Amino acid sequence: STIAPSATVNTTCCYCGVGCGVSAEVKDNRVVAVKGNQEHPANLGRLCVKGSSLHETQASPDRLLTPMLHGKPADWDAALGFAAEKFQDIIAEHGPDSVAFYLSGQLLTEDYYIANKLMKGFIGTANIDTNSRLCMASAVVAHKRAFGSDAVPGCYEDLEQTDVLILVGSNTAYAHPVVYQRIARAKELRPEMQIVVLDPRRTATCEIADVHLPIKPGSDAFFFNGLLQYLQQHNHVDHAYVAAHCNGFDETLAAASQQVPTPTAAADFCEVNPKDVERVYRLFAEHDKVVTVFSQGVNQSSSGVDKGNALINCHLATGKIGKPGATPFSITGQPNAMGGREVGGLANQLAAHMGYDNPESIERVERFWQAPNMARREGLKAVDMFDAIHDGKIKAVWVMATNPAVTMPDAGKVREALKKCDLVVVSDCIGNTDTAKLADVVLPASTWSEKHGTVTNSERCISLQQGFLQPPGEALHDWQIIARFAATLGFAKHFNYRHPVEIFREHAALSALDNTDSAALRGFNIAALANISEQDYQNLSPIQWPVTADAPKGTKRLFADGQFFTADRRARLVPVTARLPEKAALPNQVIMNTGRIRDQWHTMSRTGTAAKLLGHVDEPYIDVHPDDIARFGLCAGDLAVLKNRGSVYYGRVKPTESQRVGEVFVPMHWNGKYASSSCADALVNPIVDPLCGQPEFKHSPVMIKPF
Ligand code: SF4
Repeated sequence: STIAPSATVNTTCCYCGVGCGVSAEVKDNRVVAVKGNQEHPANLGRLCVKGSSLHETQASPDRLLTPMLHGKPADWDAALGFAAEKFQDIIAEHGPDSVAFYLSGQLLTEDYYIANKLMKGFIGTANIDTNSRLCMASAVVAHKRAFGSDAVPGCYEDLEQTDVLILVGSNTAYAHPVVYQRIARAKELRPEMQIVVLDPRRTATCEIADVHLPIKPGSDAFFFNGLLQYLQQHNHVDHAYVAAHCNGFDETLAAASQQVPTPTAAADFCEVNPKDVERVYRLFAEHDKVVTVFSQGVNQSSSGVDKGNALINCHLATGKIGKPGATPFSITGQPNAMGGREVGGLANQLAAHMGYDNPESIERVERFWQAPNMARREGLKAVDMFDAIHDGKIKAVWVMATNPAVTMPDAGKVREALKKCDLVVVSDCIGNTDTAKLADVVLPASTWSEKHGTVTNSERCISLQQGFLQPPGEALHDWQIIARFAATLGFAKHFNYRHPVEIFREHAALSALDNTDSAALRGFNIAALANISEQDYQNLSPIQWPVTADAPKGTKRLFADGQFFTADRRARLVPVTARLPEKAALPNQVIMNTGRIRDQWHTMSRTGTAAKLLGHVDEPYIDVHPDDIARFGLCAGDLAVLKNRGSVYYGRVKPTESQRVGEVFVPMHWNGKYASSSCADALVNPIVDPLCGQPEFKHSPVMIKPF
């Protein structure tokens, strides 16, 4: 739908998981200015530099305008017909597990929902994973183990209302800038609020910290195991809360105390000052209002799930959960990382927080979809999926709105896999990504300001992204592309949607299917929105799930009543034996850490086109401690090269004492268009957390040399 030639439209930012409300000023089918929406609960009028530059990244010269078949323009019927025929032939010969979809946290919930429905219910395989696997798969499993379902208990207000805020593996200032602005403002108003940062790097976030603990990479769970033991030794465990609401305390404490019996032991494991460790332990123990924020430094790890549970254990043991200013808080990366989780965007999930671990859930979803080919076991997670493509087991893959040839670990192998694959389909708004260049079929998709649907941010808040501009050329919305593909495969009757509200209603109805108890145990429940009118959907105000008859205006905090989403309604403390990353550095290596810079988003396909954003950092670099500059014969300001296996990353050497000795940091954004020899993720080892499949992006031993 399009709007009047001149208007102001309230919508949602399409970049990070903060999910800020944006007021876009539109003239002549163009966004000419944006500002923060004062009414949106996520940002209350604030925006970061990426959000406030949204209008500058609209008219990309790289915009894909027409379907392409083997490098030549084609019409939609020809392109989709070719893709459908190849899918059908491959499935007929090799079975449904020989095809795959790889999706993205950039997709809207409605897009995500029908892609999952098509793959899991109609094509008949759960080989559908997403770049959210690279982002927060660890937090999903940690939540499920502790709470019975994947649910973030708190809300952004808790970050302002707390007395002690502990940020773990989270450079919020760069990765979630409006969250950082809210925290910084709260600290300004209440300087007594204590802020602690646990991060091997001294990041920009440390500017507002009272304590920065530059812990050894990957040692987070040692720190929190030590904290649990400290809480017990100093009588700060809330035994009444534990007795009433939790299982597993004794076993969890035994595991923690055996491994990390004292704060000094924790300091030794984490390689930080014992006095600082004890100071943070005291802060946690002596304040009721404590929030522990965790992000990619915890999640992107070969033990990310355990790290998440180690910190959640401390909140459960002290009852610091479900109350204003007291909660563990996973902050997600992408605009719709949580929405993807809600519709079952991961290969081991189904829909509406149901999973493959319960045959009743499979039957329930099958019945609801009237699915003829229901997938009955979980599919391959991202790293395994691209390995299966490389090995020829998966012969057709459709990549939607993401660029795995740059972002996957061992990205060089992913490129080889895509080159060898019989059929690669890419649908995206940009036509010249490294992944699109390897595709047989490239399909033009609409993007922010053109597409219409919902996203869910880090505090469970569902917001509308408004479609108010006409997509250029022949671009279609992702849900339309998937529905047309489904029709071409012969499933038109089940994908006959005319508007995204119809998909949203179906998704909402599925969240509440069957009896109230089983729906409540899933956590995600938006039953009260199942009959939403088109007009109400068009005007949907941000709302935090669950949204039910009992909570028609949404739910700010979960677990305030001590009732969790497990069958017995009790939370679980999970025994954790902390372990360090799998690979240690050899004497001639350094540990490479990857992450975001302030003004770029993912592989720069949008943000790279705005001069203002590129002006912040305009080339790949390597943060190196001065001792390592001397040790490896590097020169500040000169180029150096990082190497791992056959892959290289060239970057300018930036001397900084914010790095620990023996560790370097590189931005993850650069790729083929901007710097083809500086793809950081190509150097990342494809080592994953065995519980969730999330790769270890934060810890890759690499060689470093002058160029
Ligand atoms: Fe957009 Fe995130 Fe910035 Fe908010 S903080 S404006 S959601 S990029």
